[in-house]
Amino acid sequence: MDTKFIGKKSAAAGGWGALKSCGKRLLQSGMPISGARTMLKANQPDGFDCPGCAWGDPEHGSSFEFCENGVKAVAWEATEKRATPAFFAEKTVSQLRRLTDYELELNGRLTHPMRYDAASDRYLPVAWEDAFAEIGSILTGLDNPNRAEFYTSGRASNEAAFLYQLFVRVYGTNNFPDCSNMCHEASGIAMRQAVGVGKGTVLLEDFEEADAIFVIGQNPGTNHPRMLGDLRRAAIRGARVVVFNPIRERGLERFSDPQDKVEMLRGGSTDIASLYLQPQLGGDMAAVRGMAKAVLAAEDAAVAAGLPSVLDYAFLAEHCAGFAEYRKAVEATSWAEIEDQSGLSRQEIERATDVYISAERVICTWAMGVTQHLHSVATIREIANFMFLRGNIGRPGAGFCPVRGHSNVQGDRTVGINEKPSDDFLDALEKHFRFTVPRQHGHNVLAAIGAMLDGSAEAFIGLGGNFARATPDSALVEKALRRLKLTVHIATKPNHSHLMPGETAFILPCLGRTEMDLNAAGNSQLISVEDSMSMVHGSAGINRPASPHLLSEVAIIAGIAQATVGSAVVDWSELADDHDLIRDHIEATIPGFENYNKRLRKPRGFHLRNTAAHREWDTPAGKASFSCEALPEETVHQRARKGEGRFALQTFRSHDQYNTTVYGLDDRYRGVYGERKVIFIHPADLTAMNAEAGDRVDVVGEHDDGIERIAENFRFVPYDIPRGSIAGYYPELNVLVPLGSAGRESDTPTSKSIMVSFRRRKTA
Ligand code: SF4
Repeated sequence: MDTKFIGKKSAAAGGWGALKSCGKRLLQSGMPISGARTMLKANQPDGFDCPGCAWGDPEHGSSFEFCENGVKAVAWEATEKRATPAFFAEKTVSQLRRLTDYELELNGRLTHPMRYDAASDRYLPVAWEDAFAEIGSILTGLDNPNRAEFYTSGRASNEAAFLYQLFVRVYGTNNFPDCSNMCHEASGIAMRQAVGVGKGTVLLEDFEEADAIFVIGQNPGTNHPRMLGDLRRAAIRGARVVVFNPIRERGLERFSDPQDKVEMLRGGSTDIASLYLQPQLGGDMAAVRGMAKAVLAAEDAAVAAGLPSVLDYAFLAEHCAGFAEYRKAVEATSWAEIEDQSGLSRQEIERATDVYISAERVICTWAMGVTQHLHSVATIREIANFMFLRGNIGRPGAGFCPVRGHSNVQGDRTVGINEKPSDDFLDALEKHFRFTVPRQHGHNVLAAIGAMLDGSAEAFIGLGGNFARATPDSALVEKALRRLKLTVHIATKPNHSHLMPGETAFILPCLGRTEMDLNAAGNSQLISVEDSMSMVHGSAGINRPASPHLLSEVAIIAGIAQATVGSAVVDWSELADDHDLIRDHIEATIPGFENYNKRLRKPRGFHLRNTAAHREWDTPAGKASFSCEALPEETVHQRARKGEGRFALQTFRSHDQYNTTVYGLDDRYRGVYGERKVIFIHPADLTAMNAEAGDRVDVVGEHDDGIERIAENFRFVPYDIPRGSIAGYYPELNVLVPLGSAGRESDTPTSKSIMVSFRRRKTA
């Protein structure tokens, strides 16, 4: 049994392997020299924002402000390969559907607007004006604007997202399914309840002051790689990094910083986690509740011994509401419950608590491992409760950091991409633009899919993204898209969502983040994005566009808007030709963007003020608010344990992947090469099933809606993961995530806890 990944420290993340991988990707793009030159402008004040994740940029960055996955994202966009009309003429859509996600996108950048021809089952080139006109006539032809769904991927800039929401609200709906519905929705909801703002409260600089950093349900090595640099610097100066992650992720164990010449030359690396705990899937809330229980026990012991208090009573008294009720909830939670649900021992949890208590300043970071469960909102409230105990918010080196996966997913929500917009925002829009805004709340992702399936929705517009592959229950979503009157995808490369055309369907190719967007006067246009630290900064492409027929996302939205709602409210093309005007409108309607255009042109941009970071609590209680929920009665993992051959599955990314974009078939940090259909499982679970590494199985979803969900032909890979928990890649395994299984309050698909079993396949 190949157990090289069990319990032993693996090679370091980053290092020469990262440089080799960067070289390979730049070579694969066919543009190694210009690709390398392009990278020197990534995340630079006079350059472009990396189209990857939303990790922040340091005040005084280096010339190499990018990571291995940033190189993959840019090389993938800046490839010399082109998916031209000839490419689409060669194959029918049905034939293209047989390609994998990787094979499809490997064909390169879209070059022309394309319209689906049902008769030949092919996409044919179309003129922009004709496309806009037909889209406009179909949208205005719908008997109700709520019959259209307007999806946004987190890559859209503030300017594109603001113009999009304005167009859609003038059109008359709040149907804004967006990618954050599937990622940090629970974070926004829980944090607004707890501290009055749905965004992280720390700056990058706080990582230089924290004494301890708790990293929960997050794999920065692949998903936010530059964060490893910040964790490494913290570890080197003596801060403790405590990790809660079911899977042993190489980046959280050891990191060799490619920017540190000495470390690289001596082949060295730095230990990141000083404590690595592996809760079972869905066990994070219990683990955090356990730490709170240990803190309160330590407090009682300190009081009994006449020692200084462990709790920050000044903060609790002045700034908090609900502490007493919370304390009762913690005391009512037994260690047996905590150990059974978390899968961790009391001793392990107490070791983590010792780190917490001995640290003056603590930051807590988290990602999808926390947000994609039924009880995610309650888990994040529990993290807030735990941090309140010692006042770890609103002071240097301390606070909350939900790390966003997409470069501008936070910015899109800030500028109005929200199916439940606030009245303040709608009032401001109505007052500023003098039109009647739609007040009825709209559809998030799951509601949009439901409406597309039951026929109440008839049109889908996608601003970026790969809706059909990012969403759960892939077979149902394909059915939903293909029964629509209209599907429109604004994209840089062909993807599978494009191959599920509605009656009328368009693929509209847009500029990439690295490409220059010249306006009529020939001036390069600036866009802006907001990172996980609420820093708004500018981005301007530097490369010649992949095709002379591309338009910017802003110009495409302006074209569709003009053809659909006309220019009674605004002159769309004027705004598209001068993004400063769009920013003036943002400044006029959204607090915090004063002097937007001026401040945006400062190096690194500006910070959007975060009230909770100043200990101002915009909550119903006017205080930082404890919650006192009981632990979930049972997690999927606990339920699976009761059944024979049942497991709790989580989906995640490989190291050669960014969201649904697959850059390659290797996952070098987990020792998988040239394939994606794998299931990571504990060797003892294989033995218990009389199975072996390499055996192939079908993975069968177990959900109570009578729908059979099967992911075929996956290979077992023994891995260091708690018994009963297993993992594999999305989008391939999204077919197993039931539409009906969604987070309470967040409505986020529960992609981190899916009940499954296996069906043996004859080995090849
Ligand atoms: S850390 Fe994220 S934003 Fe930074 S270079 Fe890497 S992928 Fe891009």
